[in-house]
Amino acid sequence: MTDVLWLGGPPGAGKSTVAERLARRYGLRRYHADTRTWAHRDRALAAGVPAAERFERLSPADRWAAPVDELYAMALHHERGPMVADDVRALPPAPLTIAEGTVITPRLVDALPGRAALWLLPTPELLEERLAERELAPGPLALYRRLAEVVETEVRASGAPFLRIDGATDTVRAVEDRWARHLAAGPHAAGREERRALLREANEAVVAQYDGFFARPWAPDGRDTAEADFSCACGDTACTDRVRRRIAAVDPAEPSHRDTQAGWEAAAGALRAETETGEGT
Ligand SMILES: [Zn+2]
Repeated sequence: MTDVLWLGGPPGAGKSTVAERLARRYGLRRYHADTRTWAHRDRALAAGVPAAERFERLSPADRWAAPVDELYAMALHHERGPMVADDVRALPPAPLTIAEGTVITPRLVDALPGRAALWLLPTPELLEERLAERELAPGPLALYRRLAEVVETEVRASGAPFLRIDGATDTVRAVEDRWARHLAAGPHAAGREERRALLREANEAVVAQYDGFFARPWAPDGRDTAEADFSCACGDTACTDRVRRRIAAVDPAEPSHRDTQAGWEAAAGALRAETETGEGT
């Protein structure tokens, strides 16, 4: 099984950005729990979890009209923890994995400790600001607030390590500093081709998540026109670009900042620097 760095926190805490940047910078595998939602719902259905069955029976509109306690139950927050643990146990032993998601709980980390764990807890003001940016409907807004309360309560009750996020500090840098020793220890991807393969894997997980959604019997049509953000798969350790593509047309190994003139210039600069330092394959 793999070694893992766990990154938890409520929706809007910035986990995805932190995990993606660090994974690209250090050549790590990224496990993003949000890309497994439908696979996990299928497992919960197979196990006969009543809240999972209720979720599938309701139309999306009826679902979101439910009281927040019911929204929270149907989110399978606790049921998904052991599923995440199973997923992570099944990953290859190298490189080091950074696993992130709201469903990563102190209880999960107790069961599968990994190398380190950290929760990002936004201040109440920042949380409201981030949720407002998403322009959520009342149902998702109530659910996300509830998840934020639950995560904070669980983390504080268990004495788990956390970073208070106020929006003023650079969260990527703060986590990088906190985990410096673990990030340096690796194991890291061996070179550009392995980094590209990891990015492809992360992009394939995004496509699989959309496919899982559109395969639901109640899902709307729209797979042909749906778009998502993908990681630039160039494999440069300094690249932070995200590329918007139609999921029906994307090649997960292809999205690249080099599709733009500015991107070409940045890539050429990075290649020159690599050639000079002998890094890269
Ligand atoms: Zn790139």
